[in-house]
Amino acid sequence: METLIRHTRIDCHQHRAFRAFLAYCFFLLPLFWCSGCHSLKFMPSSLEKPDKTANELSVLAAPGKRSFRVGQFVFSSDFEVNRDQPLFRELADLPEQVYKELELPASNTLVQIHLFQDRDRYERFMQAKYPDLPRRRAFFVAQPRTVGGAEDLMVYTFWGERIRQDLRHELTHALLHCVLRDVPLWLDEGLAEYFELPPHLQGVNQQHLEQSTGTSAPFKPDLGHLEQLTQVQQMTPVEYREAWAWVHLMLRDRPQAKAVLTSYLQQLRLNPTPGLLQPRLAAVYPDLADSLSKHLTQLEQEPRRQAADMIKGDGE
Ligand SMILES: [Zn+2]
Repeated sequence: METLIRHTRIDCHQHRAFRAFLAYCFFLLPLFWCSGCHSLKFMPSSLEKPDKTANELSVLAAPGKRSFRVGQFVFSSDFEVNRDQPLFRELADLPEQVYKELELPASNTLVQIHLFQDRDRYERFMQAKYPDLPRRRAFFVAQPRTVGGAEDLMVYTFWGERIRQDLRHELTHALLHCVLRDVPLWLDEGLAEYFELPPHLQGVNQQHLEQSTGTSAPFKPDLGHLEQLTQVQQMTPVEYREAWAWVHLMLRDRPQAKAVLTSYLQQLRLNPTPGLLQPRLAAVYPDLADSLSKHLTQLEQEPRRQAADMIKGDGE
């Protein structure tokens, strides 16, 4: 039985897309990482040390004084949150956006979001509850309630300036987890990167785009390499950016490419290991790396072309 954890990007700007995947054998003692999992021992500290002081226990209490629901998302906080703000209206639409775009069935599984008022309180809580996790702004945790039973789906984060993107990112992981048996690490992060952006941007992450098409570091996409990754240490910001790029190509280029992704996801509903996606996509694009580079270059030129069309239109 495993607890699945996804978390959001590292704060450092150079590594903003860094993500991690950690899974651990939750009910097996002594607790060691199971084969194929992260090599660190990882368990909630509340299980490690039963004798907590009152102060430690208060730090371990997740926010819960106030609670409100937005669709299947249940927000808990210890401070007043204005639930009428546009952020929550947008989040209410996220499940439909994700499931419709990916042609997946809807789910009404509840996701609990623990919203801390500030970063300090959030970090003290995470440090006390999950001392082995790295520092990140947000986490998604799928934790089994019982062996073979239902799971608690939880997001932990704090009210910071990137709350919109962080919530959209982690809730995308949660929504995928509701309906799929498993999602390969690279694809899970690529999809979360795609849907974390406000809908009007249509999945275009300008920073990823600039870094992929810029001349400072040559972009050498290799989907076969991404598909081999199973551990966080193997994922660098370059891999996260590339994961986003492949997802964007599949969802926004041609219908045959989107069909490859959606049929792969359909398989993942029943089969956690449906094989590789690369050969299926290569049937649509014989030269995969070249097709991705062209797609990104086109995307990068799009705003300029639109601006040029507008100027031309004004002059006519
Ligand atoms: Zn993620």
